[in-house]
Parts: sequence; C-alpha cells; structure tokens
Amino acid sequence: MEILDILILGSGPAALCLASELAKQNLKISGISTKSPYEKWDNTYGIWASELEELGLESLLSHRWSKTVSFFGDGIKDKGNIPTEHHYDYGLINQKAFQSELLKKCKGIEWLNETAKIITTKDKITEVVCFSGLKIKARLVIDASGHKSKFIKRPYLKEVAQQAAYGIVGKFSSPPVNKDQFVLMDFRSNHLNKKELLSSPSFLYAMDLGNDMYFVEETSLACYPPLSQENLKKRLLNRLKKRGIKVDEIIHEEKCLFPMNLPLPFKKQTILGFGGAASMVHPASGYMIGSLLRRAPFLAERLAVFLKDPKYSSLELASKGWSVLWPNELSQRHKLYQYGLKRLMSFDEDRLRSFFANFFNLSTKEWIGFLTNTLPLPKLIYVMIKMFINSPLRIKLGMLNIT
Ligand SMILES: Cc1cc2nc3c(=O)[nH]c(=O)nc-3n(C[C@H](O)[C@H](O)[C@H](O)COP(=O)(O)OP(=O)(O)OC[C@H]3O[C@@H](n4cnc5c(N)ncnc54)[C@H](O)[C@@H]3O)c2cc1C
Repeated sequence: MEILDILILGSGPAALCLASELAKQNLKISGISTKSPYEKWDNTYGIWASELEELGLESLLSHRWSKTVSFFGDGIKDKGNIPTEHHYDYGLINQKAFQSELLKKCKGIEWLNETAKIITTKDKITEVVCFSGLKIKARLVIDASGHKSKFIKRPYLKEVAQQAAYGIVGKFSSPPVNKDQFVLMDFRSNHLNKKELLSSPSFLYAMDLGNDMYFVEETSLACYPPLSQENLKKRLLNRLKKRGIKVDEIIHEEKCLFPMNLPLPFKKQTILGFGGAASMVHPASGYMIGSLLRRAPFLAERLAVFLKDPKYSSLELASKGWSVLWPNELSQRHKLYQYGLKRLMSFDEDRLRSFFANFFNLSTKEWIGFLTNTLPLPKLIYVMIKMFINSPLRIKLGMLNIT
C-alpha cells in the first residue's frame, strides 16, 4: 500500500486553507471528506475587510460595508438608540469564489468522498480506516474535520460554552437595518421580558445585502448550556415585531452552533489538527477564517521541512506540527482570551452592554487587533489592562470575579 506524506481529513475552510498551502510543497497528499470539496459550504462567513486586504484577497468579498455600527444602549430611552460607529470596513466572503480559489491552488491533491472511522498508528505510520472499508496510510494525518472531531485529544471540559445563532436571509416589511449598514452587535433589549433579560443575553448581527434583502441573526456570544434555536428564533422575531417589522420571505435560514472554549489539544499525539478541530476559533469572538489564512502558510512550510527527514514518525511529525500551530505566544494569548470569555459569560445583559461600549472606546488598532488576535502578547496584555482601568467599577469587579 502506498504511504502518503500527508492525508487531510475534511474539506471545509480549514482543510482547504491548509491543503492549498501544502500543495506548493511537492509532497504526496490526499484528502478525504464526508462532503465533496466541490459542494458549497453552508455557513455565511463574515470577516473584517483588512484581514483579506493584508493577504491581497479582498476580491473574495461578496459584500463590503463602511457603515459599520453597534448598539450598546438598552433601546428604552432615546439615548439607548444611539449607535457606536466603528469606522472600520466589514465584509461577507463570497463562499463560492473563496472555495474555488483555494481548490485551484490544491494542485495535485486527490480528494476522495470518504469518512474516517478509525485512526491508528503503527511502526511510525498512521492508518485511517474509512466507513467504506478503505484504508489509507500516511506519515502525517491532519484532522480538519471541524470542532466535532473525535480523533483529536484534548483535556476534558465538562461545560463547553457554545456560540449559538439563528439567522434569516430574506425580505422584510420594512428595512431591519439602515441602507448600506452593517450591525455587528445590536444589544438593544426592549423586546425582551424580565425573565429573558436575566437569562443569557443575545444580540442582533445584521446587514443590508442590497436588492431589498437583509441578513438578520440573533446571536448568543457564548453560553453553557447553549441557547436553543427555538429560543433565538423567538427572540429574533420579537425583536423585529417590537420595531413593527414582519418577515415577508425567507430565502435562507442559518443555524449556528459551535464551541468557543474548547481546550487546546495535547501536543503529544499522533494526529495534527487544523481549524475547528484544533481549537482555532477565537474564544472572544467566534471568528476563525482570518486566522486560518494567516496561519496556514507557515505551518505548511514547516511541515514540509519536517517531512524531509524520513526518520520522523507520525508522533514526532504531529507533535512538531502542534508546536508550530500553538507556540507558547499563541497559547498564552488563548489563555487570556479564555479568561476574558469566562468573565463575560458571567455578565448579565446590562453589564455586557456596558463592557462592549467601553471595549469600543479603545483605539481602532487596539480593538481590531484584539478581535482578530493579531496583537503580540505584551500588547494584548497592555490593551486588556487599559480596558480594565477605563471600565466602570461594576465591570472591574466582574472582571475580577468579585461579584
Ligand atoms: C453557522 C456558522 C457561521 C459561522 N460564521 C463564521 C464567520 O462569519 N466568520 C468566521 O470566521 N467564522 C465563522 N464560523 C466559525 C468557523 O469559522 C466555522 O465553524 C468553520 O466552518 C470551521 O471550519 P472547519 O474547516 O474547521 O470545519 P467545518 O467547516 O465544520 O468542516 C469540516 C469538514 O470535515 C468533514 N468531515 C467531518 N467529519 C469527517 C470525517 N470523520 N472524515 C472525513 N471528513 C469529515 C465535513 O464534511 C467538512 O467538510 C461560523 C460557524 C458556523 C457553524
């Protein structure tokens, strides 16, 4: 049986971002995925425009907004309806263009429509047995099969907080957001009853897609147990109703659920992960696409170097790969984000609004760096301390877990 250099599991954004970089490295690579890589991805991927610009990929945006705002008031008094303007462009990725751009770069990689069932390592080589019975051997298996992967080993966490959202792309009786507007977080809460206000907060993520179409999504940043789709849908419809808006036509429904605080995987294991499987979702925002694009090229280069040494076993290759993917600097930053998320999850709706209003008082460079995880560790610490110092007392106490 032929032994591949690399076998990739999955064909989502993580698998294709990394495969497209590995394809430049003159290696024997195959990919297997439950879903064909040519099948359209389901999710709607949003990103800060600068993240694509820095990589020369801004043409992959299907929509781009300059009027980007949030609402952190309660919506009850006039003051509560004043938007915070972000003055920073946001965009939606054109999935089809993104997917085909990546696939074009996956030259020489064969994709099989298979699902991995069992993975074992023997004599330095890893074997993947698929549900069809097909067996494939590779020096290194990279699991990019998403956050539900059962192959990647990580410390056990009982209460995995999840981001949950229910969204509608559709037409409405009147515009749910202003013309050409993108709303990152609308925390106005006058549509919620007292019980809902006390339970997990949620916000509206919304955008004008042009041609009288809008995307509106009720989102819970992170919660354990997660808010149900029914609950989020009810909140969304109540929010619209409170503003006298009816849904005229549903073109697409988006149901979102993914973990935000998955512990980082163990570095000593025989399989390497990438994407959701490797806990790469930003624990404070839920974003990952920018990170995949930024981190794939260096990882691919390093893996090609490691694979040049024929002595390395799957365990050695994967462990070296994990150290490149999660070096100390990024692991430390991840810990800080996890701490921040844990504290945010303990905040009630009022405190959360106050926290975010204060967060966006940081300079643009600081808040965008925080949200995209591009601040070096010392700068991240500085920004978090600055945020703390500038916070009202009740936020400070909350951040310190005093009340
Ligand atoms: C609804 C939704 C919206 C999101 N929106 C954004 C956003 O706007 N911006 C952002 O940055 N992030 C967003 N995220 C977060 C994150 O970027 C996505 O979850 C992203 O799809 C994760 O990519 P992935 O490639 O790791 O996993 P997935 O996209 O889940 O892909 C996994 C792939 O593995 C395959 N697979 C699974 N099991 C096996 C197996 N055993 N063998 C072989 N193949 C297998 C699947 O068929 C699939 O092809 C969103 C997530 C969701 C759920």
